[in-house]
Amino acid sequence: MNQLPRRVTAWLGKNAADSRLIEDEALTGNLRRLRWLLPAIMAVNLACVVVFWWDTSGTASRQQAWKNAIGWTHLGMALWMLASTTAASWLSRQAASGNKVRWLQFTLALGLILFTVAFTVIDQWVTPNISPFLLGCAFVGLLLLIRPAMAMVLFLAGYACFYLGLGFTQPDPIQLLTNRVSGFFAAALGLALALVLWQKNTGYVLLQRELKSRNLALLQQQEELVWLAKRDALTGLFNRGEFLRLAEAELMRAQRHRSDTSAIMVDMDFFKNINDVHGHPAGDSALKHVAICLLDGVRATDVVARVGGEEFMVLLPRTSAEAAFVLAQKLLRTLQQSPARINGDLELAVTASFGVGTLPAGQSATVAWLYAASDHALYEAKRLGRNRVEKTEPNASLTPSDFQRMRRR
Ligand code: GH3
Ligand code: MG
Ligand code: MG
Repeated sequence: MNQLPRRVTAWLGKNAADSRLIEDEALTGNLRRLRWLLPAIMAVNLACVVVFWWDTSGTASRQQAWKNAIGWTHLGMALWMLASTTAASWLSRQAASGNKVRWLQFTLALGLILFTVAFTVIDQWVTPNISPFLLGCAFVGLLLLIRPAMAMVLFLAGYACFYLGLGFTQPDPIQLLTNRVSGFFAAALGLALALVLWQKNTGYVLLQRELKSRNLALLQQQEELVWLAKRDALTGLFNRGEFLRLAEAELMRAQRHRSDTSAIMVDMDFFKNINDVHGHPAGDSALKHVAICLLDGVRATDVVARVGGEEFMVLLPRTSAEAAFVLAQKLLRTLQQSPARINGDLELAVTASFGVGTLPAGQSATVAWLYAASDHALYEAKRLGRNRVEKTEPNASLTPSDFQRMRRR
C-alpha cells in the first residue's frame, strides 16, 4: 500500500524529465503553428467586429450594449493577436527558444482563455450560454503543446476568472450555478486535452529520437561491414576478392583506352623465420610495416592489396613494364632501408621479393593472366636469391599454364 505514493512520485518524476527533454522541440513547433494560427484568429475577430457592429436587428438598449461590448472585445482580441503574431515572428526570426518562447506561449494562451471568459461574461446579459469559454478551452488544449504544469496553471487561472466574472453578469442564481459547473467541465476538458496531447507528443518525439539514433548506428554498422568485406582486417589494405574485382574493372578500362596495365606481386622473404624467432605478434607488426611502405610508395590511383599470408599485390593502371619495374625497385629499396619496429624498440630488417607482370596496351587478357605473369616473375626473384625485382616480358600470347610449364623446366 505504501508503495503507491512512491510509484506516483516516480511516475511524475519521469514525466517531468521526459517533458524537459522535448520541451524545446514543442516550443519550436508551437511557434511554427502560431505563425499561421494567430492571423487566422485575428481575421475571424475582425469579421465578428463587422458582423456585430453592422447588425441592426434588436433595438433594445441592452442588446445594443451587448453588441457593442462583444464588438469591442473582438477588436481587443484582434489587437492582442496582432501583438502576439508580431512577437511570434520576431522570435522565429531570432530562432529563439527557451524562456522567451515559453513566456509568449503562456501569455498568449492565457490571453486567449481570458478573452473567451470576457465573451461568456458579456453574453450573460442576453443569453445563458457559455460556448465561447468551452471553445476557448478546447482550442487552447488542442492546438498548443503545453507542459502539464503550465497547462494546470492556465486552466485554473482561466476557470477562476470565469467563476468570478460570471457572478457580475448572470443574475439568475440557478443559471449561475449551472454555468459555473459546466464551465468547470469545459476547463477540465481543455486541461485533459492538453495533458493527453502532451503525453502522446512526448512518447512520439522520444520514440522518433530513439529510432533516429538506432538508424544512425545501423548505418554506421553497415558501412563498417561494407568496409570489412573489402578489406584485410590486419593491414587495412584491400583483400584478395576486392583486388580481383578492381583489377577486372581496370583491365576493361585499359582495353578501352588502349593503355598498359602492370601488377607487382610482393612476397616477404623468410617470413616464417620472423614468426618462429620473434613470435606471431612480431610477424603481424612486420606485415603492417610492409603494408605501410607499399601504400606510401605508390600513387593514390594504384591499388594495394594483401592477397595471401605474406603476399601483396600492387595494381598499376596505365603503367608500362619499365615504369612498373622502376617503381618495384624503389619499393624494394624503401623496405631495405626501413626496418620494422617491433614492440616499440626492436628493429627488424624485413625484405621482400618483387615480381612485375605487364599486360601491354591493345592486348586483352584476364586478371588471372596478370596474376600468373607477376607470380612467375616473383618465382624468378625467389629463385635468383630473394630481396630483388624480376619481371615477366609483356607477352599476352602466353597462357597461365605456359607460366607453370616454364617453372617446371
Ligand atoms: P619465402 O622467402 O620463400 O617466401 O619464405 P617464407 O618463410 O616467407 O614463406 P612461407 O610460405 O614458408 O611462410 C609464410 C608464413 O607466413 C607462414 C605463415 O605462418 C605466415 N603467415 C601467414 N599469414 C600470417 C599472418 O596473418 N600473421 C603472421 N604473423 N604470419 C602469417
Ligand atoms: Mg608466400
Ligand atoms: Mg615469403
